[in-house]
Amino acid sequence: MTHRQYLMIPGPTPVPARAALAEAAPMINHRGPEFGALLGEVTGALKRVFRTTHQVLIFPAAGTGAMEAAAANLVAPGERVLVAVAGEFGARFAEIMRVMGADVRVLEFPWGTPVDPAEVNRALEADRSIRILVVTHNETSTGVTMDLPALRRSIPGDDVLFVVDAISSVGAIDVHPDEWGIDVLVGASQKGLMAPPGLALVALSEEAWEKVGRTRCQSVYWSFVRAREFLERPSPQTPYTPAVSLLYALRESLRLL
Ligand SMILES: *Cc1c(COP(=O)(O)O)cnc(C)c1O
Repeated sequence: MTHRQYLMIPGPTPVPARAALAEAAPMINHRGPEFGALLGEVTGALKRVFRTTHQVLIFPAAGTGAMEAAAANLVAPGERVLVAVAGEFGARFAEIMRVMGADVRVLEFPWGTPVDPAEVNRALEADRSIRILVVTHNETSTGVTMDLPALRRSIPGDDVLFVVDAISSVGAIDVHPDEWGIDVLVGASQKGLMAPPGLALVALSEEAWEKVGRTRCQSVYWSFVRAREFLERPSPQTPYTPAVSLLYALRESLRLL
């Protein structure tokens, strides 16, 4: 047993004892009513913390998995995507989009500075074939938080989806996806939510769900359609074995939040 450390890193953040102890609970049948109640409570609480009326999907993965899931479900081959990069995590999202077959345009900003909405607007105006804008809410590698409402307003027209990496912000820095017009919000369990690492979280707007419906998903594991279909059963489920212990822990962290 290692000693409790005072972690001075962005994540994992210290896990409250109540959440850590909850992980020791016995396994349950993930197709039974007890699991349905657990998943129902966790997704309900996540909606409140994410400040959205839409479903919050949960995948067993690091936050990077939620980023990859967003790309797998939204990007058609050759689709033009603009990624605003002002640090390590913006660069990671650009790489994921590229690997998933997007035609990626990178808009670089000096590390330590915010993404400038006026420059984003110019880039989107200059190329109206861009269909997705990706921004990191809080660029953890530099500590700079972006002005999401201003960035939303910088998007011309209404056929560009606004994808936001909120992995280090959700639960810690205010983010209002419904109010601010964010189409895809990705999060993770181990930063602002005070849970152990291992759960990737995604919330989508109505427009994003429409796009998902029109796009051939490049993955079975990350399929948003499957995840939602199982989540909306009379007793909520997941398409494959969920990380039961992590869900117990997250439930306690969310109760504390
Ligand atoms: C931590 C972090 C990630 C990566 O999360 P992992 O769980 O390590 O995959 C991505 N984006 C941001 C902004 C982060 O802070």
